[in-house]
Formats: sequence, C-alpha cells, structure tokens
Amino acid sequence: MKILTVVGARPNFVKVAPLHRAFQADPTIESKLVHTGQHHDARMSDVFFQQFDLPQPDYFLGIDSGTPTRQTADILLRFEPILAREQPDWLVVVGDVTSTLACALVAARLGIRVAHVEAGLRSGDRQMPEEINRILTDHLADLLFVTEQAGLDNLHREGIPDAKVRLVGNLMIDSLVHHRPAATALNTIGKLGLLPKRYVLLTMHRPANVDTETGLRSVVEIVTELAKRRPVLFPLHPRTRASLIRHELLDRLTATPNVRLLDPQGYLEFLNLLENAAIVLTDSGGVQEETTYLNVPCLTLRTTTERPVTASLGTNRLIPGLTPTAVLEAVDAALTRQQSPKTTIPLWDGRAAERIVECLRQLPAVEPQ
Ligand code: UDP
Repeated sequence: MKILTVVGARPNFVKVAPLHRAFQADPTIESKLVHTGQHHDARMSDVFFQQFDLPQPDYFLGIDSGTPTRQTADILLRFEPILAREQPDWLVVVGDVTSTLACALVAARLGIRVAHVEAGLRSGDRQMPEEINRILTDHLADLLFVTEQAGLDNLHREGIPDAKVRLVGNLMIDSLVHHRPAATALNTIGKLGLLPKRYVLLTMHRPANVDTETGLRSVVEIVTELAKRRPVLFPLHPRTRASLIRHELLDRLTATPNVRLLDPQGYLEFLNLLENAAIVLTDSGGVQEETTYLNVPCLTLRTTTERPVTASLGTNRLIPGLTPTAVLEAVDAALTRQQSPKTTIPLWDGRAAERIVECLRQLPAVEPQ
C-alpha cells in the first residue's frame, strides 16, 4: 500500500511524526512525505524534523508566506503533478491548515482517496479560516479519523456516512506520550532558571486575537497584569511578533518586568514548559489538548472551542472577549483552586497511529489502472 502524507505547518509535524513511525514499522506500506513549506523556517519547521527524527520530505513545494488564497492557489498548482505521478492508494492530510484543504482538493479532483486525520472538529465560527478548512476537507475525504465524540456527532449531523468515520484517538497525544521522557530530561525550565508550577505560559497566534490593534493591546495588558502575579513566559509565534512590531507594542512588552519573550520553542522544550507551568493561557488548538492530558489548568482566550472534551472532561476553560479583568479573575481562581484529579479522555493513550494504520490496512488497496 502506498501512502502520501502532507505536512505544512507546525501542528502538522507534531501529528504526522507518530504516524510516520507507524508507517515505517509496517513493511507492506510504502510511505512518502510532502512538505508544502507553509511553515518553513528553522524554528517553525526544521527543529521538529530533527526532534521527531522525520526524514527529509520526498517533495518540498516551497510555498511562500502570503495570503491563504495565494498559498492555496500555489499548492494546487504545484501538488497536482506530483500526486498525478505518484498515484498513492491514500493521501493522508491532518488538521486544519491551508495545506490540508488544498491537497485534499487536488486528490479529490484526481480521484485519489483522501484520509483526513483530526476530522469532525467544529468551533461553529466560520470567521476562523481553520473552520472552513475543516468542513471542506471533511466533505472531500473518503475516510475520517476522529479524536473525540463531538467529532463523530458533528460529522453525523452534517450527513457524512458513519461508515467513513473512525474514532481513533489523538496523534498529538501520541507525540506527547512518546517524547515526554526526553522533554523532561531536557529540563528547559531549569535552564531558564524557573521553578516548577511557579510561572505562567502563554501562546497567542489566532488572527482574531493578534491581527487587530485592539486585540493585541488587550493581550499586552493581560500579560502586563499577569506579570505582577507570576513570571510570564511568552514564546512568540511569527505572526504575533510581526503584529507586535507593526503596532509598536513589542518594545513595551520587552520592557515589562517579569515577562520573558521567547522565540518559538522546539517541541521538547515547549513540552517541558507546558508540563511544569502553574497555568497556561492560549488560543492554540493543540495546546488545549496537551494541557488536558498533562492535567495543567488552561484558559483558552477564545469564544468557542472545536475541542469541547478539553472543557467538559479536561482542564480547559474558555474565556471569551479578551477582557483583562475576566482573564485575571479566572487566573486567580485557577491558581488558588485545588488541582482536580487527572481525567482520562477515551483513546488519548498514545496509540492513535497504530489504530489508523490498522484501519488503512483493512481497506482494500486501489487496483492499478
Ligand atoms: N508548540 C511548540 N513550540 C511552541 C509553541 C507550540 O512546539 O513554541 C507546539 C505545541 O506543543 C503543539 C503545537 O505546537 O504541539 C501547536 O501548534 P499551534 O499552536 O501553532 O497550532 P494549533 O494547534 O493552534 O493549530
């Protein structure tokens, strides 16, 4: 069985790494990797390839940073001849980034079967580009791998046949389970001179929070107030850094006592920062899941989440509106509250990749034409 897998952006590398290992372990699978280049620099891409021991991609599409429309158009044009030549049994796409949708669309046009990993998640907010990418990719896909019950319910409601859908668990948790010992051994917090459970970790990169000056000013105010309580670590996503510079807010943050602005962290470094944080504030999708698994309190500064199990069973709490007082109240409440015992999310056990390979193996291969 021949499988072509697409990666483009940081969260994709985290999800594809365990899948790649599972493909390598099966001698009946011929696996090839395509990197669109959506994230292509050392800190957002190369470090993940090194830490996950991923091979150099078989194809690199070299997509420039540009608008999502431009990126989509470039991927369509550059990916089509590759897919037409390779003719895999399956194209595997993960998550909700521009590369996911663009490559799924090429496959659908060429009649090549698409498996979508992390299908069915819905925030209900069509202002989010990720939501559009998820909905369209799910409706193009032939096989849909789901991480939580809400995903099954959403797909059922949208009329996608149950026979195409499998609840398999969460590849992001596979990576966490696999790499946690190495992350702990790295002791990033010790190297930064931090004490466990004494600092706040923050990540922020969603357009709704960081693209407008109003949103960004609120983020800066929240960070400034947080820093009066605990040291704040803020690894800056390139989009957030660029926006802070554009709105002349970077210097103000840099000068704020108790705030450490960091470059985007490698996966192992970031995992060590996550597992030892007193509390995490984020607008990331994956970080909501990782904090839930690690039983670290998480405040998600968004109106909606596409990962509702992290709030119903996990440690996540949604704080809409980017209102500094509401965020600070929630932080104070979380820091004084007794930590709840860890809950287990069904199938988030580090074995999702195995289940995915098993499903792919059970389906008939495509007959050569
Ligand atoms: N991450 C990382 N370094 C960082 C910030 C995040 O390795 O400085 C990891 C994080 O642990 C998670 C993934 O990147 O596995 C999440 O990516 P991101 O927040 O960019 O995307 P989203 O999940 O929101 O799509």
